[in-house]
Amino acid sequence: MTGNGNQTASPRKILIVDDEMSVHRLLTAYLKKYNYIVENCLDSQEIVQKVRSFEPDLILLDLMMPALDGVSATKRIRNLRLSSYLPIIMLTAKKEVRDMVTALEAGADDYITKPFEIEELMARIRNMLRLKQLQDRLVLKSEELNEANHQISRLNHVLVQTNKQLQKKLYDFHNLFEVSYRVSGQLEFAQLIKQALINILGIFATKNTLLMLTSKDDHDIFEVVDAKGFRAKTLRELRMHRHDKLIHYLELIKRPFQLREVPEEFQEIVPRLSALEVEVVCPMFQDDNIIGMVCLGPNLKDEAYSEDSLEALGILGNILAVAVVNSRVYEHIKAMSYTDGMTGLHNYRFFRLRIKEEMSRTRREDSIISLLIMDVDHFKNYNDTLGHPAGDEVLRQVSAILQHSVRDNDIVARYGGEEFAVILPGAEKEGAMALAERIRVKVEEHAFHREEIQPGGQLTVSIGIATFPDDALTEDDLIICADKALYHAKNTGRNRVVDAKEVMKNS
Ligand code: GH3
Ligand code: MG
Ligand code: MG
Repeated sequence: MTGNGNQTASPRKILIVDDEMSVHRLLTAYLKKYNYIVENCLDSQEIVQKVRSFEPDLILLDLMMPALDGVSATKRIRNLRLSSYLPIIMLTAKKEVRDMVTALEAGADDYITKPFEIEELMARIRNMLRLKQLQDRLVLKSEELNEANHQISRLNHVLVQTNKQLQKKLYDFHNLFEVSYRVSGQLEFAQLIKQALINILGIFATKNTLLMLTSKDDHDIFEVVDAKGFRAKTLRELRMHRHDKLIHYLELIKRPFQLREVPEEFQEIVPRLSALEVEVVCPMFQDDNIIGMVCLGPNLKDEAYSEDSLEALGILGNILAVAVVNSRVYEHIKAMSYTDGMTGLHNYRFFRLRIKEEMSRTRREDSIISLLIMDVDHFKNYNDTLGHPAGDEVLRQVSAILQHSVRDNDIVARYGGEEFAVILPGAEKEGAMALAERIRVKVEEHAFHREEIQPGGQLTVSIGIATFPDDALTEDDLIICADKALYHAKNTGRNRVVDAKEVMKNS
């Protein structure tokens, strides 16, 4: 075979550094035969330039040279920062073996003594080149490994960071889940708001928070429903209209914002909020409509709120909006179920509930309670003559008279068609009778629409009064007594107030 031991790659380059021309000639002839590319360097002083320009794969270096000896030349080569390892085989005379050790220590890889067997030299060259090839591959692999290692450690760093962020997010979302679970399960409005604010304080580590919602009576007005940590003055000042620039800004960005990020064209909202120590405002949307907002004051560390916490607040705002809407619907339905739609008074269900409660309280407190039952006189006549709508209007006006005649803790209810009941906790017979009389007179004196068509020319009421414990000991009996008194009033001319005692006496 004539190859240089590496048939697949380009021919290997060997640099011969020797001051003897004869050595050059001999070696060159052989090496070329074996397909190596050869260059000679007679002056060892030029070795460095030669290595740079020729870029050999191996150097055959004479140990003894006049200008620069082999050991010094080896040192120079080893000081070069070459991209790959460059093997050096020393050529020495037998007597120079001691110097050889120095040369090997200086960085030579192998040696062969002169006069040499050319076959042995070729074998060593092949061997050395094979080693170099292995070494080069190793270097390459180790560089690749190094790069891979770097990438892994970079990725690892990113992973650690991401992991930390994920853990924080997980914690935030866990909290959010908890709050949303608690809040959305809460239908009682007041409880809902209280819980929401307490949770907001905890999650966002904020010093103060407040919640504004559209007013129940006017959906264009936002007012503070509850707050934690803000001064009472703040709460009154925050009342605002839907046309307020703050609402426009929230409608535009549709997410929580910090005061410091408000753009130029909305700057006018900043001084007012910062005077109140509000730092973050989060809208609450129902579909595309803002129904309220959560405001946060500074956090406990007095730092800017992170993007993550604003994101979490945004989610909470949405959950809260749904919960508020649900709760308002619930409160409305509850109110409806205890309210008479036409007059706005409590209904019969509510009356039954309250008279039971009030009676047991009265018993507990060893107190007194009176019940007033009232019925419009000849109402059928009014209705039939003037129509149902006119009758409805009378019922509304009678209701208003009733409500304006009683004290705050008296309970006025529509008992049935044109019948009303008033529970009078703490009222003795005399007081209840006096109140009933005042009501009777007020109705009598009130100018109802076309009341002249009524028998007697006026729209009037009859009233029955019963008192616990004087007339009855249970609520059912109390109702029966008051009813009896009322019908006694009807039977004895109407437009009268009758005391149950009077009826009992007669029956
Ligand atoms: P009395 O003096 O004996 O109480 O005579 P009255 O006509 O008032 O009594 P009656 O029970 O005969 O008639 C009650 C009428 O009240 C009959 C009904 O049409 C009317 N009514 C009951 N509920 C309503 C209501 O919600 N709106 C109107 N417009 N009328 C009602
Ligand atoms: Mg009637
Ligand atoms: Mg009636």
